[in-house]
Amino acid sequence: MLDAPPAPPPLADVFARYWGYTSLRPLQQEAMDAILGGRDSLLVLPTGGGKSICFQAPALVRDGLALVISPLISLMKDQVDTLVANGVPAACLNSAMAADDRAAVMAGLREGRYRLLYVAPERIAGEGGGWLSWLLATCSTSFVAVDEAHCISHWGHDFRPEYRLIGGLRAQLPEVSFHAFTATATARVRQDIVEQLGLRAAVTLVGSFDRPNLLYRVLPRASIKTQVLQVLARHRGEAGIVYCPTRREVDALAAWLAGEGFRVRPYHAGLSDHERHANQDAFLTEAVDIVVATVAFGMGIDRSNVRFVVHAGAPQSLEHYQQEAGRAGRDGLEAECVLIVSSADFLRWREILSKHGELTDARQALLRDMERYAASVGCRHRRLVGYFGEAYAKDECGACDYCLGELESSPDPVTLARQILSAVARLGQRFGAAHVGSVLRGHVSEQVRTRGHDRLSVFGLLREASIDEVRGYIDQLIAHGLLQQSGEQYPVLQLTADGAAVLRDASVAAGLTLARQRKPEKGRGPRRSKAEAASWAGVDRSLFDALRELRLRIARERGVPPYVIFHDATLRELARVRPATLDALRHVYGVGARKAEDLGESVLSVIQAQQA
Ligand code: ADP
Ligand code: ZN
Repeated sequence: MLDAPPAPPPLADVFARYWGYTSLRPLQQEAMDAILGGRDSLLVLPTGGGKSICFQAPALVRDGLALVISPLISLMKDQVDTLVANGVPAACLNSAMAADDRAAVMAGLREGRYRLLYVAPERIAGEGGGWLSWLLATCSTSFVAVDEAHCISHWGHDFRPEYRLIGGLRAQLPEVSFHAFTATATARVRQDIVEQLGLRAAVTLVGSFDRPNLLYRVLPRASIKTQVLQVLARHRGEAGIVYCPTRREVDALAAWLAGEGFRVRPYHAGLSDHERHANQDAFLTEAVDIVVATVAFGMGIDRSNVRFVVHAGAPQSLEHYQQEAGRAGRDGLEAECVLIVSSADFLRWREILSKHGELTDARQALLRDMERYAASVGCRHRRLVGYFGEAYAKDECGACDYCLGELESSPDPVTLARQILSAVARLGQRFGAAHVGSVLRGHVSEQVRTRGHDRLSVFGLLREASIDEVRGYIDQLIAHGLLQQSGEQYPVLQLTADGAAVLRDASVAAGLTLARQRKPEKGRGPRRSKAEAASWAGVDRSLFDALRELRLRIARERGVPPYVIFHDATLRELARVRPATLDALRHVYGVGARKAEDLGESVLSVIQAQQA
């Protein structure tokens, strides 16, 4: 008999054994085929789309050591913990590690113990000098995976100069295939990645950017505390992020929520490193449910069961929005993304950007797109994917405020628009939205009385409407480019040229839409998306909670975040199937062989205890 080497396990086996997954998501097969075939590739999938497994699984099939380049130490550590918990021989090397740990990893490398090694980009050049040559001489590299590859591009939202060093590695490893992964979809970033990494005849795979499990809502800003509370009430005991525009607002809201009894921490760049780290850790280890944060809280948040993301203020572009809201529901389960917005947000962005000399035409255009999204009346999923250049195949998504019937379109938007525009005109374009609103609603405020504005013909035209509703219409007219605000401290409303044209000739406004929030029907709870109803179908909620407790206990004992033990999707499946034997347990989604062996008995005993 010839001594043929054992055939590597096929991918499907690796998937089932290490991850407990039985099917592939879109483009995963193609991405892994490229790696197995040694062809350079670029995979673009939204956050949570399942990119990591596309380089992790092939590393177990191909001989040698896969190098994974990853920008953040926290991200790296998390992924390695998750892999090790699944029985995958993986390690990382970074400057934050203790000398002992580092020596242990080096020894492991020498013995060929690992299939995946995570390194920071700065490790592969400069610092540590001969380290890389040592590594390359010691281990045979199967392939190189570059995670968060958009960090190499100026056009991305997170440029990191050290990523430019990776091009040098490519030159040192001409025979080895390189594979890039990112969630940033723009063509310019994609092009940049291919050029900077020197990818050759790369297989380019770009997935759909729709996230069907996310429920998008947009609310005109009214009372922010009440609005945030309403979202939190739908997510008791669940994880979420509330983004605020400034540090001051973060601190105030976090303190207030803590006073209301929520388990919450603040996060922003003004906190000490120590506090920031502690707060992030508390969130990842489920010691708290909510983080109130500025956008400084972002990459490296790998908690997969974030069930809601609230924006208390609009981001500066839809790219930013997609990125930040996209931190919800990475486990594929339902999650809610609420954007609370007012026209003041956009004024502020223009002010900030122009103060820094950054209010370029491009930035203006990005802001306008964000503004228009917020004021649009139509399916949010369709809008978002359309923005990223993708056609939306479904008629309705079942997961946005519009498709769930929460918005009420005005039956006669043109007349409504003209009423508001003429009020602005009659007031000489010298008053802010609050005063215009009072006049339209027929509210005799101090200012209305002293100026005699209650005698204007436009006084009380919208007597039936609430303050929030009128504010909402005004914001929408701004977003549609019919009104504009100017002046910093006390912005006044003025007609744009288009707005003036609509006043002269109603037909100019054909196709205009205006909407308000529909009043909640009595006795009816918040609407749920289809995804939410489906993912809870047949799930024993109290068993799910008991399993969450078990998971938390095990995670604490082992000093890892809970989602490293099991994802929520797996807990729900367990609480649906209620397996009674180890064998049945092994067939549950997300339970690999290693997990069944390691944790099976504990899981079964919780299930039995619940049934008793
Ligand atoms: P990304 O890196 O694209 O943000 P991840 O690789 O973190 O996404 O994957 C998101 C989640 O989906 C992870 O929990 C991952 O284990 C899970 N996942 C990936 N592929 C599959 C699959 N084929 N079937 C089920 N779950 C999967
Ligand atoms: Zn929709």
